[in-house]
Order: sequence, then structure tokens, then C-alpha cells
Amino acid sequence: MKIFCVGRNYAAHAKELGNAVPEAPVIFMKPDTAVLPKGADFVYPLFTSDLHYEIELVLRIGKTAKNVSAANALSFVDAITVGIDFTARDVQADLKAKGLPWEKAKAWDNSAIVGEWKPFNAEAAGADILFSLNKNGQTAQLGTTKDMIYSFETLIEHISGYFTLSPGDLIYTGTPAGVGPCLPGDTLAGFLGEEKLFELAIK
Ligand code: ZN
Repeated sequence: MKIFCVGRNYAAHAKELGNAVPEAPVIFMKPDTAVLPKGADFVYPLFTSDLHYEIELVLRIGKTAKNVSAANALSFVDAITVGIDFTARDVQADLKAKGLPWEKAKAWDNSAIVGEWKPFNAEAAGADILFSLNKNGQTAQLGTTKDMIYSFETLIEHISGYFTLSPGDLIYTGTPAGVGPCLPGDTLAGFLGEEKLFELAIK
């Protein structure tokens, strides 16, 4: 299973981190060991002192996709949820400053939180999809797909032009504005619309 992540897909988030809006999708990957196993504790990593949450809509691929067109792209998605692309922001800032790859900031064990899966409905996906992250019961991030720079269709077309997408692969489609730090003792909950699809206590 492969995990693709999209960087800077919401203009307000690109701006809050001082990044330009990209001219093409920014893609990076996490290994399958990045997924927090169901029921496992999430423990604050030792190598960071600035762990950031990033709530994202996550798509799951249902059938093999290679060089697909945007017009057909949604037929390759079988489920949707919300998840967190955890980021060691201090590690990332250091790597970015040196022009180095991001894996140590983004792709470590348990850095990918996956909520409960919901069947993907391509027609419903054409409307605005709202999603949010609560931190200790307060809304920390609120996103809507209408603010995406690159749509689901465009992302799948783009990614499948470089990489074969296989059943079970995940695409984290980018985070809206409002990313921020979290600490042991915090509780993070992810919502698709009004429905809570995960709750995570940081140990
Ligand atoms: Zn992200």
C-alpha cells in the first residue's frame, strides 16, 4: 500500500507557512508503516518539539489507475475519510532550509491517522465537502473542497501520470489553514461534515 500526500493545496495554508501557491501539485509519499494501527496509542515522537496536526480529506483507491484522465478519475476512488498528516514542523523547517527531502518530518511511524471509511460517491463529491479538526473540543481547522487549488480529479490524473495507483492506496489531499502544535494530553477529533470519524488522544 502506498500513501500519497499533497502539499500546499489550499492557498490560505500555503500562505500561513510562507509558501507560494504551487504551479503544479506538490506530491510526497509516506510508507505503509506511517499508518497508526487501529487501537494503538499515538505517542508524541522523541525527535520533535513542534508536532503539528494537519487535517485532510483522504481518498482510498479501489482499482488500478495509470494515466487516467480527470474525467474518469473519480471512478477509481472507493472510499473517503478524514485523517491527519502529522508533521514535525521543526524538522521540516530544517530540511526545507537545506533543500533536503521531507521524509524525516512527514513519513515516520504513526504519522498518518486514518478515520473510519465512508463509501465514496462521485456525485456527492461534486458538491462542497466540509471537514474539520477539533482540538480539545474546539474547532482548530475547518476546510471545504471548494477551496482546493487542485481538485480530486486533477490530483488523481496528475499522480497516476507518474505512479501506478493500486487498490488500497491512499491520497491525503492537503490541509486547509489553521495547522498548529499539539502536546501530550491533547485530544484531536476529525469530522467529515458533522460526523466524527476519529478521535485521538496524544500520549
Ligand atoms: Zn499535509
